[in-house]
Amino acid sequence: STPIAELDPEIAGFIDAELGRQREGLEMIASENHTATAVMAAQGSVLTNKYAEGYLGRRYYGGCEHVDEIERIAISRVKSLFGAEYANVQPHSGAQANASVMHALIRPGDTVLGLDLAHGGHLTHGMKINFSGRLYTIVAYGVSDETHRVDMAEVERLAQEHRPKLIVAGWSAYSRQLDFAEFRRIADSIDAHLMVDMAHFAGLVAAGLHPSPVPHAHVVTSTTHKTLGGPRGGIILSNDAAIAKKINSAVFPGQQGGPLEHVIAGKAVAFGLAATENFVDKQRRTLAGSYELARRLSETDVADLGITVLTGGTDVHLVLVDLRDSVLDGGQAEDLLAEVGITVNRNAVPNDPRPPMVTSGLRIGTPALASRGFGSAAFAEVADIIALTLIAGTAETGAAAETIVELGVRVSTLAAAHPLYPTMN
Ligand code: PLP
Repeated sequence: STPIAELDPEIAGFIDAELGRQREGLEMIASENHTATAVMAAQGSVLTNKYAEGYLGRRYYGGCEHVDEIERIAISRVKSLFGAEYANVQPHSGAQANASVMHALIRPGDTVLGLDLAHGGHLTHGMKINFSGRLYTIVAYGVSDETHRVDMAEVERLAQEHRPKLIVAGWSAYSRQLDFAEFRRIADSIDAHLMVDMAHFAGLVAAGLHPSPVPHAHVVTSTTHKTLGGPRGGIILSNDAAIAKKINSAVFPGQQGGPLEHVIAGKAVAFGLAATENFVDKQRRTLAGSYELARRLSETDVADLGITVLTGGTDVHLVLVDLRDSVLDGGQAEDLLAEVGITVNRNAVPNDPRPPMVTSGLRIGTPALASRGFGSAAFAEVADIIALTLIAGTAETGAAAETIVELGVRVSTLAAAHPLYPTMN
């Protein structure tokens, strides 16, 4: 029962420092969020100690009566949240959820059609040195050079030509909605399975603010920690009994051993929260913030400097900034925003002329700030700060340094007005 600060002051110090960093700055990494303290309490509980290999009522360990109830509640809540008939809440992460679906539905060497990483896809959708790229034959679709949107005619052409066994729809860096019905039509036309990875937009789906892939896909995977706002982890949903059975055995014993019951408890708490009006309101603010950011970054003072918004706007919780025509590259823009106290990540844009560690883009998301209580006025202020920081970074005069200091003060004021985890110390 020794407090961590006494037992291990070195680690405790870094946890405190991270709390300070999150409190004092503004988190705008699109895949991040500030989860509820109740979710963290579940994860920090005695459930950490429990082994529970297997599934409800069919465990390979004794003493599972309480974790069985927790996992049952998590499953029932996530099924009702997304209107799915079957759910597996055991994947330790989004990557493991995707690996399990591939393990269940295809064999090594089979062809998978997924969105190119360089066009916004995820590592697990077929990147060369990821398990997906090493085990399976990957064919990638991209976004159109003109619209920067997924071109369904190209998806269909590639599907017809390569006859993949699995089509993956979903993204890590894309600011528009996908046409799930059209993906399913194409999958059916070649007798392929369709997996939708809704990791990024699951929270919007849960709130009814984004079309649901569940009625269209054979399988839907997600993380639980992005817009959904829960603990770090994965889930798999399906409406097909035979597929669900294969997926269960692909997760355990196919890919994993003991489930993380403390995380599953955190997932259950998060699914409960996601079914509330407060959650819907938060997702509305998330979207409104993203729209406002896209609008502000499209104004002439920014656009005249060659800084534009990819696709001209957004339908989701993130904005992709295109710096291909700017003197500022993705790395410099990320560093400048860090200087004023805003955390974002550099991100390659399609056909990026700069190297992957530099990039010509930024991915900026609003979920964490919405969780922190940001409304329209605060989002307008942060959008203005981002615009002015990028403008200052492009300036050739010495005035920029002073401006950066002033913008940093505006960030501190916003952060102080939206206290994060006020009772935590
Ligand atoms: N799928 C998508 C679309 C993602 O964006 C991510 C994470 O960024 C993942 C899967 C992987 O999730 P995890 O980091 O939990 O493995």
